[in-house]
This record gives sequence, C-alpha cells and structure tokens, in this order.
Amino acid sequence: MKYIGAHVSVSSGVAQAPLNAQAIGARAFALFTRNPSRWKSKPISDKEAALFREHCERLGYAPEHILPHDSYLINLGSPDPDKLAQSREAFLDELNRCTQLGLSMLNFHPGSHLRLVDTDACIATIAESINIALDATAGVKAVIETTAGQGSNLGYSFGQIRAIIDRVEDKSRIGVCVDTCHSFAAGYDLASPQGYEATWQEFDREIGLGYLSAMHINDSKKGLGSRVDRHAPIGQGEIGSQFFTMLVNDPRFDNIPLILETPDEALWPQEIEWLYSQIK
Ligand SMILES: [Zn+2]
Ligand SMILES: [Zn+2]
Repeated sequence: MKYIGAHVSVSSGVAQAPLNAQAIGARAFALFTRNPSRWKSKPISDKEAALFREHCERLGYAPEHILPHDSYLINLGSPDPDKLAQSREAFLDELNRCTQLGLSMLNFHPGSHLRLVDTDACIATIAESINIALDATAGVKAVIETTAGQGSNLGYSFGQIRAIIDRVEDKSRIGVCVDTCHSFAAGYDLASPQGYEATWQEFDREIGLGYLSAMHINDSKKGLGSRVDRHAPIGQGEIGSQFFTMLVNDPRFDNIPLILETPDEALWPQEIEWLYSQIK
C-alpha cells in the first residue's frame, strides 16, 4: 500500500494538520511542529496535542505515515560552537514535540560545513549531535534527508549519509528520507529506467533499503547534477512523470510516507489523485 500525501499547513495549530491532509485526499502528511524560521517557538499545549492525536486517530493517520520536518535554522554540523549548541537545543525540542504528539519520526537536513571545516569533520559533528539527541529522548527516529548539495550542505551523496549512520550509536533510531528532487539535482539519474534501478541499487549497497523511512516526492526545475534545489510540480520538471509512475508501482516504497513538497499547493489534490491513478 502506498501512503501519499503532502507537507500541510499548521497556520491554525498543529491539530489542524490531519484535517488539512484529509481535505486533499492524502493518506500521509508532513508538518512543522514549530515555526521553521524562528529559534523560539511557544510550547504545544496539552489540549492541542490531545486534539492532534484525536484527529489523527479518527481520520486514520498512523504515526508511521506522519513525517514532521524540523526547523530550517538548525545546523547539527555547525562549526560555530554557539550555533551548534543552539541547534542541538532546538533539535531536542523538536524531538520532544514529536513525543508529545505521539509521533515516531523527525525528518531533518543533516547540516552544513559553511566552508569552515572539511566534510569529515562536519559529518562527525552531525553524528555526535544525533547521538546526544537520541540519548536524551526515546521512541522517535531521526530521519536524515538527502540534499541537493547546494552551497555547503552535506548529505547529497549516499556515501555521506552512510558515513553519518556509521557513527550513530543506536541504529534502530536512525532512518533516511530520499528527496527525489534533491537526489536528482545531486546527480542520481532517477529519470531514466536504467538510472532509476542503478540509483536504488546504489542506495541499497551504500546505505541499505532497510533505513529508507520516507520520501519527499518532488520533480526538479533544475537538471541532473545541477546541485540546485528547486522543486517542480509532478511531471513539470526535469525528472518527469515516468519516474513517478515507476515509483508508485515499486513495492520497495510500500508503507512509508511519500510526501509532496511541490511548489503549487493548489495542485496537491490533483497530484495525489494522479499518483494513485498510476498504480497498476
Ligand atoms: Zn524535502
Ligand atoms: Zn528542497
């Protein structure tokens, strides 16, 4: 079974997220549990958290199909000690919010070296940040997102993701979210049938398909290997609709959240409907 959805709005509170997902025909959804562009965010009230759980239960959204996304400000690999401490504190708060909402995963971007330290040093810092956070919490899996490799962002190659996972102590609480736009922009040719198979074989060899916990399903405005992160609506980018038809028919991607982060929200109901219609 495929669980396709989108990153829905929480502008009127996190408890509205499952309602917004249902309104667009989604069977999975992503959300921010705090303001993604601010360091400070007020706590979620117990009432709001209870309402969120109630809505999820009533509408049939299980924790394994809900993928909260962390704040954009967090850099778990920051070479600046103050920023690193601030990031680790915010990441811990994100994990605690997931626990409060009864959720089991937190999706995050690995981090950036800001051209101040080398890749290996940054990877070691990211892994240490993850270990600290997992040590201080229970039950929520940290899900690393593949990046486009724009600027100094790490996590664009499967080898870099593997290197982070290698250093994580509790491997039962680490997972991977492949963002199709990002990985295509990073040079993984998902668009052609041969490239598609080669990419997943490489993922399995380098990381292991058992770690695949979620996907962000976006088309890409920019070309293969461009290292530029610009999402496009499904079928309107350089990856193209054939890829998405292969994806929804591939049993390797059953039972994990497949989340649209495509730029035109108004298209989400159609995109979800089209994706389901492609299942043979
Ligand atoms: Zn993404
Ligand atoms: Zn992106």
